[in-house]
Amino acid sequence: MTSGLFGGAFDPPHAGHVALARKALEHFALERLRVLVVVEPAHKAIETDVELRLELARLAFAELPRTKVGADPHPYTIETVSDGRFVAGDTVFLVGADEFAGFLSWREPDRILERVRLGVATRPGYPRERLEVVLAELERPERVELFTIPAHDVSSTEIRARAARGEPIAGLVPAPVARRIVELGIYDGGC
Ligand code: ATP
Repeated sequence: MTSGLFGGAFDPPHAGHVALARKALEHFALERLRVLVVVEPAHKAIETDVELRLELARLAFAELPRTKVGADPHPYTIETVSDGRFVAGDTVFLVGADEFAGFLSWREPDRILERVRLGVATRPGYPRERLEVVLAELERPERVELFTIPAHDVSSTEIRARAARGEPIAGLVPAPVARRIVELGIYDGGC
């Protein structure tokens, strides 16, 4: 029985995040998936309140089975995966390929892999050598599994920028998320 963890700032959650989670549920036959909205990520300045990001993430991931959304108080992944509330038993921590390309700069990557396996979502055409160089440096590369998701060329940064310019974001985020962003007028003031 395998559980999944999917952490991020989700400022806001978008179609790429949902596609990754959907495919991971199936690929790893996850018994459950916990989406963790990181309150204060170590490497990003976040202006959007965590309660808002949680609300948007609940709307975004509501369409997925066996999936729950919660807050993660830990800035570093090694702390998250050392927290018994989040990891017990076989757990796959999910990341996008771009994120994994920088994995060696994370705090204690080898210790992370002792506690969880890593599920790395790649898209067709993603340069594999960017991942191979990381795998080559890890003590336990067999704990990393790549899986392919359809390409969604979207990022939270782009959505914030579009919303700030008053451009439509429909199709880039799940419909209930788009409605709520417009209703609340978040991201209107800039990105
Ligand atoms: P930002 O643009 O603010 O940097 P982001 O779009 O990368 O944000 P995060 O919340 O930082 O979103 O990402 C959480 C996780 O989702 C990371 O593991 C990241 O690699 C992955 N991810 C982000 N965008 C995509 C995408 N378009 N397709 C698949 N996975 C993605």
